[in-house]
Order: sequence, then C-alpha cells, then structure tokens
Amino acid sequence: MRSVTTLPQLLCIGAGPGNLGLAALARSLTPGQIDIGIIERRHDLTWHQDQILPGTTLQNSWYRDLVMSADPTSHFTFANFLHRQGRFQRFLSSGITAPSRAEISQYFQWVGAELGVVETGTQCTSLRYDAASDRFEVGLKTGPLATTRTASHISVGTGTTINLFRDRNFAETDSIVYADALARSRRCRTAGRILVVGGGQSGAESFLHAITAAWDGDTPREVVWITRDSCFRGLDTGHFARDFFAAGFPQQFFNLSWAERQRLNAENVTAGRGISPGTLSRICETLYNGQLSSGPQVQTRLRPFTEMLELELRNDQPVATLRRGTEAAPEVEAFDLVILCLGHRQGAGAFAQDMLDLDDMALNPDYSVACETVPPGRVFLQSDATGSHGLSDTNFVAAPHRNAIILNSLLDHPHFDTQQDDLFAEFSPAVPPAPARGAACLSKFG
Ligand SMILES: Cc1cc2nc3c(=O)[nH]c(=O)nc-3n(C[C@H](O)[C@H](O)[C@H](O)COP(=O)(O)OP(=O)(O)OC[C@H]3O[C@@H](n4cnc5c(N)ncnc54)[C@H](O)[C@@H]3O)c2cc1C
Repeated sequence: MRSVTTLPQLLCIGAGPGNLGLAALARSLTPGQIDIGIIERRHDLTWHQDQILPGTTLQNSWYRDLVMSADPTSHFTFANFLHRQGRFQRFLSSGITAPSRAEISQYFQWVGAELGVVETGTQCTSLRYDAASDRFEVGLKTGPLATTRTASHISVGTGTTINLFRDRNFAETDSIVYADALARSRRCRTAGRILVVGGGQSGAESFLHAITAAWDGDTPREVVWITRDSCFRGLDTGHFARDFFAAGFPQQFFNLSWAERQRLNAENVTAGRGISPGTLSRICETLYNGQLSSGPQVQTRLRPFTEMLELELRNDQPVATLRRGTEAAPEVEAFDLVILCLGHRQGAGAFAQDMLDLDDMALNPDYSVACETVPPGRVFLQSDATGSHGLSDTNFVAAPHRNAIILNSLLDHPHFDTQQDDLFAEFSPAVPPAPARGAACLSKFG
C-alpha cells in the first residue's frame, strides 16, 4: 500500500485515444489525486490522418466515445464536443449514428487541447526503472534536444504498426501504396488498373474509393479486390456481439481458462474485425448501380481465396504474382496501382518489452505488466490486451472501461464502478474479482 501523501505521477507515452481517454477520465478526480502528463512524437493529434478517405466513418456509434460509458457526466463526451462546436442539434437532426472519421479526429484533437497536458513533437526513446529512486526514467527527444523525465507509473499507448508485405515499405514509389498513406497518394488520381490486397475494413474502404468518383473524374479501367480468406467478411454488429464491449466483459473474460479465451477470440473475431455494414452497403449499391449505368464502366473483380505471392516493380509498373487457392498455377499480372491493406499488429506490449528488456511478459487484471523482474512501479498497456482481456481491447471503444480500471488501481479504491452486471450472457462463473496484481493473476497479453 502506498503512503497517502504520495501523489502518483503517471507519464503516458503516445497521445492516441487510449491515453487521451485516460487523462480525460482522470479529470473527474479531485485535483492533484493523479498527476498525468502525455508525450506525443507527432506534431498534432490527428487520428489516422492519411487513412481518412472521403466518406469513411466510425465502425461504432457516436456515444461510444472516450469517456461516456465510464463517466457519462464527463466534460469530455462526444456530445459535449458537439455542443461546444455549436452543432449538437444539427447532428441529432441529421440522424447520423456513426460520425465521419474526420470528425472523430477533430474530437480527439479537442480533447487534447482541453486537457492541456500533451507535449507534442517529443518522442520517447528509452524507458528504464531506477530501483534507487523507485521511479521510471524516460528518455525523450524533442528535435535535436535529448532530455530525461521521471515518473512513478507509465501508460504505454504507442499504437499499432501496419503490416508490411515481406517487410518492404515501398516508400519510394507512388504506384504501390499502403492503406495508411492512401489519402495522400497522388497516383490515385490517374490509375488505370488497380489491385486492392486485403479483405478487411481498410481493403473495403480502398476498393470503394477506387470504384467511386473519389478519383477526381478519372475512371479506372479495372479494379481487382483480393483476399486470401474464403470471403469478404462483415463486422458482427449483432446485439449479443455488443456484450464483448460491455464494461463487465474484461473481468468475465479474465476469469476464463486460457484455452477458453483463445477459443472465444478465435470464434468471434468478426465482432472486433470485419467490414462495417455501412461500407458493405455502399459497395454493393455502387456495384449494382454501376451495372445500370450507361456511362463509362469500371470493370470490377472480387476474388476471395486469392493470395498475392510476390510484388515487384518492372519499369516503375507494379507486377503482382497471384494464386487462387493452393492448387492453381500462379498468375503474373501488371497493374497501375497496388493498394496494400494487410492489417496492423499491436505495438504497446512490444514497446514495453523492448524498452524494459523483459523476457516473458503478461498482464494483470488492471492492465499492468506482470513478470518476474517487474519493478514495483506499474507499466500499463493501452489497446494491447486481447489475449488477456478480450477481443474488444484493440478498439478505442474499450478505452473507458480499461482506463477506469487503471485509475481505480492507481487510487487503490474503486472510484469508478467497473463491476457492473451489464452483459446479457454469462461467459464465466461469477467468481470474486481477481486482485489487481500478483502472481495469481498472470495472464498473456496481446
Ligand atoms: C483506419 C482505422 C480505423 C479505425 N476505426 C476504429 C473505429 O471506428 N472504432 C474503434 O473503436 N477503433 C477503430 N480503430 C482502432 C483504433 O485506431 C485504435 O483502437 C486506437 O487508435 C488505439 O488507440 P491507441 O491510443 O492505443 O493508439 P494510437 O491511436 O495508434 O496512438 C498511438 C500514438 O502514440 C504515438 N507514439 C508512438 N510511439 C511513440 C513514442 N515512442 N513516443 C511518443 N509517442 C509515440 C503515435 O504517434 C500515436 O499518436 C481503427 C484503426 C484504424 C487503423
């Protein structure tokens, strides 16, 4: 138990929705109870800026914001953001349920500005625990200036890393683009034959972008969309899938056996990953209406079971080797533009593991790192606990519950109600909540 005179000092690395939500939720505490600072390497707080294509929307409803489900009275709700911008009533009248990604990015920037604790343009370069002072030492770099800061606790919210095709970043070419850079790609406006690789939400958005007027009037000749999966999968937005995003779900998930957790995540992957219903509708309507139109036609081919084996540039033109299933002979095809939408991999756990030089690592119920050599100060992970806390953890909609648990743990008392009986289903038998820390509650992360 910490001394009551010690103020926990929490330094957050990364100003994505995870840590912004943490600082926002903490504002309802008595001033000074938890002193929080946030370090962000970028110079602004835009959210997935280069993946904001025209018409892209949130995959969830507007009320699943950074704080509402943990503290509906918070200043930092999306509703209050709209109110402060003078457009709350018009938003309601519009009937929009899933706001545009551009507007959510504005909301996150507003939260950051209102908090006033984010230091932008500063990268965390090292993290180590100093046993003598019982504090973490964080190495920082702002331009050429290197500094060190100390903190009692750390929250790592460094986000995901895009999956590369065979470790190649293709940064040198405009005719092979990763989805996270598509919005700023110049090539999009002139492409004739386009290949979209990947059947998830980013693949669907890129395909839709390619077959609609987003190309400044230049109609591509043909757009081919491939996935190695057996189909283009939709997101499960059914009523029971919402249980996975309830405040009480992480605790129930934590009480399952390791095998049960893996099974639940594997069998319900589409509750957290898949093409949102709005995007699917727009794709199908565009394809159908295209058949009726007498204007210039974009030829489209949707090819499940198809894997890209190789991708190379020949005289500046992308040439892809594609194979249908495992039996067919590979086909070599030339394109004008290849858009790679290969998903993301989690990063917070790897960041903490590398920085603290940990061998084996797991998470406690309060999202703090647990391992044999872990120091008494806590390192919490944002958005990287699907293995231990369930499949919703990678989405920012899980942030309010996670952050309520983290803050309760730092305060050593349940300021936020995180034990709500708010699920329809009972995934695990009702057992007393596991203690926040300790060897008994070790659990794999990620
Ligand atoms: C295109 C796209 C759409 C999505 N749509 C949804 C959606 O509709 N609903 C939903 O719930 N989830 C959605 N997600 C998932 C969502 O983005 C993540 O859940 C969320 O952004 C994770 O938040 P985070 O704060 O953990 O990380 P991030 O948002 O990735 O933020 C990490 C931050 O850390 C900074 N950083 C990294 N390393 C350092 C360092 N060494 N020093 C300082 N700063 C550093 C980065 O610059 C970045 O700003 C989407 C993801 C993508 C890619």
